Amino acid sequence: MIQLDITKADHDIYLDHAATTPVDPRVFEVMRPYYVEEFGNPSSIYQLGVSAKAALEEARTRAAFVLGASGHEVYFMSGGTESINTALQGVARAHGMKGTIITTAIEHHATLRTLEFLETQGLEVVRLPADESGVIDPKDLAKALTKDTILVSIMHANNEVGTIQPIKESARVIRETEKNFKIKIAFHTDACQSAGYLNINVEDLGVDLLSLNGSKVYGPKSAGLLYVRKATKIQPLLFGGNQEQGLRSGTENVAGAVGLSHALSLAHEEAPKEVERLTVLRDHFFDKLASIKNLKINGSREPRLPNNINVSLDDLRGEALVTYLDDYRIQASTGSACTSTEIEPSHVLLSMGRTEKEAEGSVRFSLGRSTTKNDIDYVADVFEKLVARLREMKA
Ligand SMILES: *Cc1c(COP(=O)(O)O)cnc(C)c1O
Repeated sequence: MIQLDITKADHDIYLDHAATTPVDPRVFEVMRPYYVEEFGNPSSIYQLGVSAKAALEEARTRAAFVLGASGHEVYFMSGGTESINTALQGVARAHGMKGTIITTAIEHHATLRTLEFLETQGLEVVRLPADESGVIDPKDLAKALTKDTILVSIMHANNEVGTIQPIKESARVIRETEKNFKIKIAFHTDACQSAGYLNINVEDLGVDLLSLNGSKVYGPKSAGLLYVRKATKIQPLLFGGNQEQGLRSGTENVAGAVGLSHALSLAHEEAPKEVERLTVLRDHFFDKLASIKNLKINGSREPRLPNNINVSLDDLRGEALVTYLDDYRIQASTGSACTSTEIEPSHVLLSMGRTEKEAEGSVRFSLGRSTTKNDIDYVADVFEKLVARLREMKA
């Protein structure tokens, strides 16, 4: 613990909503009966099963509404990772494990590692680099597309730096290429970080596949869904009882599906107000941090998720900063949470042209529903004083 000239907060200030969110009590309330009383298996033909099945289908319709899709195109999965794996491996299998997949250098590990595996199975993978603000240029995508392209996977918003990709423009480029080469290209987007804040209407985005999860939208962990546009060629990864129209066998997580779709509709309804509120807080935070010498903001301010702040200091280590912040009851993260066991610098920051030192000295604060202006003032104050003290100690 480093003593700073500041009074420690009397409550935790959780600024790691990009890692996971608490379950909204309203969501928890609608999930509860499906664990305790309405516990039937949706495949059973007696009343208890029929009502579980009805709850599952209602959840599907609710989620489909937010996506602007039909219920038949929504498949419940066990989280973002399974949705992404099903999308990527499932499309590859449907193409006989042949062809080229185009992705970006800044995807979540669920995408990166899956595609590394597909590469060992004979598929070709092309990774588009991000520019220094963390954006993938649709012109680079246009150049990379060939008649062998079977799938493109570009995340909607980045989990580390909150940058938002031009998905619509990318879709336009893909559709143009399909016409020119007379081929079909499946377009997948990882919307795990964007689902709570941005428009994820699949017609507006122009995607064929979309992954999202409950744990980032104030819903349950290990609950997710994959949207698959009708007539998209895809094969399952799991075989068994043929649940989820055969794409995902296994007894359905009814409570999880109910919770996920409730969480998604609440987030959707509240997004206009919440995005505005968080954007003000985010920009206030950026302004306060500007007084710290040699601090670099990672990613441009706009377009950016309303809840993401990511900064680098090339003379301090992110882990040290995060650990000392914890002593002041502030939960933040460095790099991406999923790699917290590895000490590799972030692949996202490196792709954006940050140095290894800058990548190792990065801190991400991700705001959420509980975040107030007082919290931000306190965190900015602690952070500024902490950086000053650590620099003094090094000198
Ligand atoms: C969290 C996350 C995932 C993985 O989702 P899980 O539900 O943890 O499997 C994938 N992509 C992005 C962008 C994420 O933020």
